[in-house]
Amino acid sequence: MPHHDCDVIIVGAGPTGFMTAFLLQRRGISFRIIDKALAPSRESRAAVMSARSLELFASLGLSEALLAKGIITQQIDFHIAGRRAGGLNYDLCAIDDSPFPFILMIPQSETEQTLLDALASGGGQVERGVELVGLVSDAEGVDVEIRQGGETSRLRAAYVVGADGGHSTVRHLHDLSFDGAPYAQNFLLGDVRVKWENGHDHFRIFMHGERIGLFLPLAGSGLSRVMTTDIGADNGAASSAAAGSDQRGGTREAGDAAAAPLELDELQRAFSSVAQVPVTLDDAQWLTKFRTHHRCVDRYRVGRTFLAGDAAHIHSPAGGQGMNTGLQDAANLAWKLAAVLQHGAPESLLATYESERLPVARETIAFTDKLFSLAAGQSGWRARLRDALAPVVVGPASHLAFVQGKAFRRFGQLDIRYGENPFIAPSGPANAPARPGMRAPNAQLSRHQDLFDWLTGFTFQVLFLSRKRLSPPQAAALLETLDGLTGEFVNATLVARLTVGGHPGVVTVTRKDVFDHYGLANDAAQALLLIRPDGVIAWRGDNNDFSPLAAFLRRFWSVAAHSQR
Ligand SMILES: Cc1cc2nc3c(=O)[nH]c(=O)nc-3n(C[C@H](O)[C@H](O)[C@H](O)COP(=O)(O)OP(=O)(O)OC[C@H]3O[C@@H](n4cnc5c(N)ncnc54)[C@H](O)[C@@H]3O)c2cc1C
Repeated sequence: MPHHDCDVIIVGAGPTGFMTAFLLQRRGISFRIIDKALAPSRESRAAVMSARSLELFASLGLSEALLAKGIITQQIDFHIAGRRAGGLNYDLCAIDDSPFPFILMIPQSETEQTLLDALASGGGQVERGVELVGLVSDAEGVDVEIRQGGETSRLRAAYVVGADGGHSTVRHLHDLSFDGAPYAQNFLLGDVRVKWENGHDHFRIFMHGERIGLFLPLAGSGLSRVMTTDIGADNGAASSAAAGSDQRGGTREAGDAAAAPLELDELQRAFSSVAQVPVTLDDAQWLTKFRTHHRCVDRYRVGRTFLAGDAAHIHSPAGGQGMNTGLQDAANLAWKLAAVLQHGAPESLLATYESERLPVARETIAFTDKLFSLAAGQSGWRARLRDALAPVVVGPASHLAFVQGKAFRRFGQLDIRYGENPFIAPSGPANAPARPGMRAPNAQLSRHQDLFDWLTGFTFQVLFLSRKRLSPPQAAALLETLDGLTGEFVNATLVARLTVGGHPGVVTVTRKDVFDHYGLANDAAQALLLIRPDGVIAWRGDNNDFSPLAAFLRRFWSVAAHSQR
């Protein structure tokens, strides 16, 4: 077999590449991460971190670091034609299955720095000024051509992850389509000091006529993110550029700074006109114009090469989904690569990366497109009608916990569900609230303890839940069986009610939330679950028969690798 320099080459040190690298490092997989840029970007870019991303960071022990650097907000206020017209208040919807029932505002540069520090503490580093320029796959690996300081050389790895952003070289080299279109409007964006009477705590969305504006508080420096659509832009030119554009990504893509630099005055005028309140912007730290597109590949994998993050999908910033979707791509792919490389899992496991994540990208593009069209895609009488009707609809909806909850779950990416595949079994009761393919929900177990405190470490988790009270011998027998299933990549947890006192090794519950969230309806109910490292339920059985689970687990390990564990 030809020599491999490492198991995985990650192209691109943005949030997707960093997350992939960190997760592989955690699993002891050898990798190299290269980036053509000589220094990390200091731009704040994606400023919203979803609940689902925070859950991922929490399982890696990094959520506290992020929370310390960001601003938590529970409220999004809508201002329509200069009047506050309700909004979303996540306090009202009492989300109790995530430890993070809020939005974290944190600049992308801080998120990247947190991952970079974590990577460095494990001895990992980014190779900067190294550009991927060529790529050839064969049955056993990928030869990668890199350019550094004018010199070209080759590396070989078992797999390549193209996390190289909207203009992805990896995507171009595989000649993959990137179908979609640019939006007609440019965006104006600034990280600036905002002086007004609206305060700096809430996320605010402004709509007025054809323009939409956003205000996002940033932590620390007293700066805030201000963004508006640029209706002064030459939309005709934008459309014709789209018509003649290279659908494989030759045009400017999401987040590209448009050619003209942005002056603070222009942002001031645009933001004042959409906010319709007295406001002064100054002390600009970052000003940019950018054009955004909605585009998606139709394949996430070509042979031994995978695409992830913006390399695979770009969309409007509406809803703050971009970076979060890339982080979840990384979480989906990294453990599968580790299982194949380290534990002899079949190659077919890697096929589920595309079958699980491509539908998510498509749905995200449709969702953000709808949001963007509703808020910013209207003009003339349609915009005036929206301005007249929105307060009537949004105002009352702001008081409905159901609406708030649905919005939070969608923006927070909590309800993403994968379809059945050979590694997600259609097992367990059909109507259970926590079924294979769904995210395993959190629940409070006692005053000081969450289920997620136990489901950490980016490993497989076998979870046995017993609403039925267990006697000490029953608990001991279950613990022994669970112990037989645990290993380097598998943890096991027994969460139960007991007939008497406590029992070492059993996580006892004083609340019934966990049983409600997992659909254990009566006092005799028990459930056995396999939860993947990315927090997705892979298998469920509603009794204490462990043999089907043991058989299912063997799908992830070759017999030889499993017996060595
Ligand atoms: C102005 C702006 C505002 C944004 N606002 C938001 C927002 O509010 N919310 C949101 O969710 N998203 C937002 N985004 C999008 C968000 O920044 C992206 O979704 C996110 O950066 C994607 O991360 P990534 O790691 O996939 O790609 P990137 O962050 O683009 O990282 C790709 C990396 O690959 C490197 N690279 C490229 N080609 C090569 C090569 N051939 N060889 C080696 N290295 C290479 C690049 O140097 C880069 O470092 C915004 C983007 C911009 C620019």
